[in-house]
Amino acid sequence: MGRLIVVSNRVPVPDKDGNMPAGGLAVAVHAALQESGGIWFGWSGRSVEDNGTPGPVEHSRNGAIEYVLTDLSERDVDEYYSGFANRVLWPLFHCRIDLAEYSRRDKDGYFRVNRMFADRLMPLIEPDDIIWIHDYHLIPLADELRRRGVQNRIGFFLHIPWPPADILFATPIYDQILKSLSAYDLVGFQTDHDMDNYISCLIREGVGDRTADSPTAKEDPSRAKLSAYGRTFHAQTFGIGIETADFAALAAASTDTDTVLDMRRSMGGRDLIIGVDRLDYSKGIPNRIMAFERFLELNPDRVGNVTLLQVAPPSRSDVPEYRDMQAEVESLAGHVNGVMGRIDWTPIRYINQSVDRNSLAGLYREARVGLVTPLRDGMNLVAKEYVAAQDPDDPGVLVLSRFAGAARELKGAVLCNPYDSEQTARAIEWALSMTLEERRSRWRDMMDYLLVNDIQTWCTSYLAALERSAPPQTGSTE
Ligand code: UDP
Repeated sequence: MGRLIVVSNRVPVPDKDGNMPAGGLAVAVHAALQESGGIWFGWSGRSVEDNGTPGPVEHSRNGAIEYVLTDLSERDVDEYYSGFANRVLWPLFHCRIDLAEYSRRDKDGYFRVNRMFADRLMPLIEPDDIIWIHDYHLIPLADELRRRGVQNRIGFFLHIPWPPADILFATPIYDQILKSLSAYDLVGFQTDHDMDNYISCLIREGVGDRTADSPTAKEDPSRAKLSAYGRTFHAQTFGIGIETADFAALAAASTDTDTVLDMRRSMGGRDLIIGVDRLDYSKGIPNRIMAFERFLELNPDRVGNVTLLQVAPPSRSDVPEYRDMQAEVESLAGHVNGVMGRIDWTPIRYINQSVDRNSLAGLYREARVGLVTPLRDGMNLVAKEYVAAQDPDDPGVLVLSRFAGAARELKGAVLCNPYDSEQTARAIEWALSMTLEERRSRWRDMMDYLLVNDIQTWCTSYLAALERSAPPQTGSTE
């Protein structure tokens, strides 16, 4: 394999002492880059005044990895990032057409920034390099590179879900999005459902299908060889993992940190249920609070004996829908605490702040139930972290939305439908009353799976599949 070039919207650059940012993805991709040598390219996170010409790219090095960062203009950030990526693609791909605010201006900004990224990458690419592009911000990038003559293998991984055809088709430029993806050699999805939705879009639109020598969906729902818009390429599922063994060790070592001791003391022997999510409408936090209220109504013996800790750090607060949601969550949590609370017991502890990784690991381990109920989620790493953090002798139970990608993998979870508060309430009660034997057996299944399918496996299996993918072809999708 030649060098690896990774492109993502944001780049996790180590600090000046060489410390890597926490988080499995950054660590695994850094390891792959160190092995093959290469470049990590993306936005610096800075916006500069719009004076017509972008400033020079910024280079830095750590061992075999070169970081190449570009600033964006304020207008670029507004149109490409806050606009098209976060207010069209994010809601649409999470099946929230009602929140997608399409504008031609933002769409133009999205494609303009992708062209700028391609222009800035071109001088860095050598013939044997393998290029791995991440996520919905950069869907058109391979096509832009192909138009400039790049014949290297280029892979894409979508970290968020792919929506059903009727949802995708609701955006005016769905055809450009579909077409852009066919410029890759390998398109990676989190789950077989996402991949199936994507292939259904090609078929419904009459622009592509599996090739004659591709496995059928029945033979292998996780892999397909496709032909669309005059190109042949591969699609495959790679459910993203966590650093399972390291996270388990971190949780085991965090049982007597100040945060955990404070939490345990303040709980006074009550059962803890934990929810951890960015404050995002896809996470279903209002539905979760309503389900918790229903659970207390249905189980009066639990009143006063169970507390829900909801950690929900703010996210994208420049987008109005996110500010509205924050107000809704605050009001709902206040309502439940007001109606159900007692002088000596608060049913919901709501933390609208980020909690560090060590404390989270310890808190997950304290909790009898991990309540992970997104309305739609590409994977959901919190679900996997909750499982990895458990005490093998006395593990808690994961209650998991069937609409999280993780539900395709974690067969030991108690699945629920987050739109059905009655059913979610029953799932919580079932989880709290489960026997130790059943808890252990469910946890073992999930932990064995997560130990094998960790973030390292995700990274190496993606790159191996990209390496095996179709030999480079010339030309863009036009
Ligand atoms: N996280 C964190 N502190 C917090 C809340 C979340 O470190 O206060 C981390 C969490 O441990 C997980 C990630 O943020 O690793 C969230 O990933 P997930 O896939 O669950 O959701 P996303 O935010 O990517 O949609």
